[in-house]
Amino acid sequence: MAVERTLSILKPDSVEKNHVGEIIAMLEAASLRPIAIKRTQLTRAMAEGFYAVHRERKFFGELVEFMTRGPVVLMVLEGENAIARYREIMGATDPAKAAEGTIRKKFAANIGENATHGSDAPETAKFEIGWFFAGCELP
Ligand code: ATP
Ligand code: MG
Repeated sequence: MAVERTLSILKPDSVEKNHVGEIIAMLEAASLRPIAIKRTQLTRAMAEGFYAVHRERKFFGELVEFMTRGPVVLMVLEGENAIARYREIMGATDPAKAAEGTIRKKFAANIGENATHGSDAPETAKFEIGWFFAGCELP
């Protein structure tokens, strides 16, 4: 298995509820190492560009409203097979369907306000890391 990098967002609901530390502890316990971290509030343009693949979906407006309503924590995670492993640890998009012990089962309120984001493939991870982090911010 290869060492990979993936983009994680702790969404506004996680920051509002003070779940940042607990979520990062779960990631570190799973050997997903945050190699770059920043807290910021996304602008509409940043959120719309990031989620451009979902532009035509009926929940797009709601998603952009949610993602811009308060600060988020952006992280690049590194580890063995990090992309798939992080998605496993996050759990299903809908917390009602997420497995016990996953981040979304533990912290997400519903399918919209679902605590975290994780890249879904190597190409999307590359795009998403580049969307939020400059080369000089990464080791
Ligand atoms: P993410 O991309 O945020 O890691 P995901 O890959 O599990 O989540 P996607 O299908 O990519 O899920 O959807 C992106 C985000 O859009 C979801 O995390 C959620 O916040 C929101 N979303 C997805 N489906 C719905 C829905 N039916 N209603 C409201 N919001 C939704
Ligand atoms: Mg996705």
